[in-house]
Amino acid sequence: MPKPAEQQVVTRIAPSPTGFMHIGTARTALFNWLYARGRGGKFLLRIEDTDRARSTPEATDAILRGMEWLGLDYDGEAVSQFEQSARHAEVANQLLAEGHAYKCFATQDEIAAFREEARAAGTSTHYRSPWRDADASTHPDAPYVIRIKAPREGQTVIRDQVQGDVTIQNEQLDDMILLRSDGSPVYMLAVVVDDHDMGVTHVIRGDDHLNNAARQMLIYEAMGWPLPVYAHIPLIYGPDGKKLSKRHGATGVEEYQHMGYPASGMRNYLARLGWSHGDDEFFTDTQALEWFDLPSIGKSPARFDFKKLENLCGQHIAHTENAALLHELQEYLVATDQLSLPEAKKTLLEAAMPQLKERAKTYGELLDKATFIMADRPIVPDEKAAGALDTVSRGILKELTPHLQNVSWCRLDLEALLNGFAEERDTKFGKLAAPLRAALAGRSATPSVFDMMLVLGRDETIARIEDAAA
Ligand code: GLU
Repeated sequence: MPKPAEQQVVTRIAPSPTGFMHIGTARTALFNWLYARGRGGKFLLRIEDTDRARSTPEATDAILRGMEWLGLDYDGEAVSQFEQSARHAEVANQLLAEGHAYKCFATQDEIAAFREEARAAGTSTHYRSPWRDADASTHPDAPYVIRIKAPREGQTVIRDQVQGDVTIQNEQLDDMILLRSDGSPVYMLAVVVDDHDMGVTHVIRGDDHLNNAARQMLIYEAMGWPLPVYAHIPLIYGPDGKKLSKRHGATGVEEYQHMGYPASGMRNYLARLGWSHGDDEFFTDTQALEWFDLPSIGKSPARFDFKKLENLCGQHIAHTENAALLHELQEYLVATDQLSLPEAKKTLLEAAMPQLKERAKTYGELLDKATFIMADRPIVPDEKAAGALDTVSRGILKELTPHLQNVSWCRLDLEALLNGFAEERDTKFGKLAAPLRAALAGRSATPSVFDMMLVLGRDETIARIEDAAA
């Protein structure tokens, strides 16, 4: 049943464009997507593009492409944080007008001197501005920043769905700047204003933002805005227990796409990375949407396990319907700038899909198994396969072809024919299989000889064997 509007869950992913979409951002996006979509809520995208140098259209595009590939659809248009700057400034000025913030005229030198003295005295280096309680009549006609009036006593408790209650002593909070002297808003203000204006009810993000939460809460409270529910999730580590980085392998979503992992397997794996539902490893989107919840996110960092990713991807490929898999395969070929599939190949691929999708962990592996379909006559055997086509083997293949002309083209009869043919020559079918694999696929590792024959059909099978025997 749809929930009443005021209770609707609204989550967001708020990536800063860095040129690529980090796997950690993808996981955070997935968690937010699962949480909202599983509850009939909204999932929003905000591009935190205030760093103008890094926020190129290409960098934003990389995020959009990553979201699209992962199937993480968001509601409405992507919001640009930079474009909301005027609104951020408006809120800073409102806080100023209401006495929750103040104009600070301190110069850089004064602040530096304060810090130096504090260091020497061994006290807190958080700047304590003399302008906090200054009367407006004493304000000089000089540039100023707007600072929030942070409480100096008591504590702030972040009620976090993953971390539990996290208590911060208010004396550790400084009167952070909201608006710089050039009138530009700081990031901390922008996040809060945007989240509020976008109606975000749940902030699910990396725990590297946990400390920010305490400072951001000050702004919510000063504005009298309801706090979002917080869930700060542990970062992703590499197999060695260190923060995931290039050293461990691919960190960009697009790299995984190009390595041929299916998006469904990737979603399954990323969901398991830090979140669990009993002992379930393999699950569908429908199950994940039903099961996902914040309290079952682990408190300690998850370690990226490439083997597990591959294993799950293999299972997802095997579970995907043949036509859908063919479609995914075509998208993979487009994404990796490979040739598109001619109609005839598509038909053969779909027919062979039940066999091809068994034990393929990536689209690349699947296509590799489909070499016998992708290749055209004359089939050029690789070195190992060529070894199986010696004079004796070629002689046997030559003898075989007339029998293939007459057999009925079904698995049972083909099996009977080839087994009998091998027996007559006092050999095992295995001996016959190697030259047949070489003839049909040009490879030594292929799907079963019978599967290939059935997919290729009588004429093509015989033609390839004749090519090889010649
Ligand atoms: N832009 C921040 C980041 O990419 C996220 C901020 C947030 O989620 O509040 O880490």
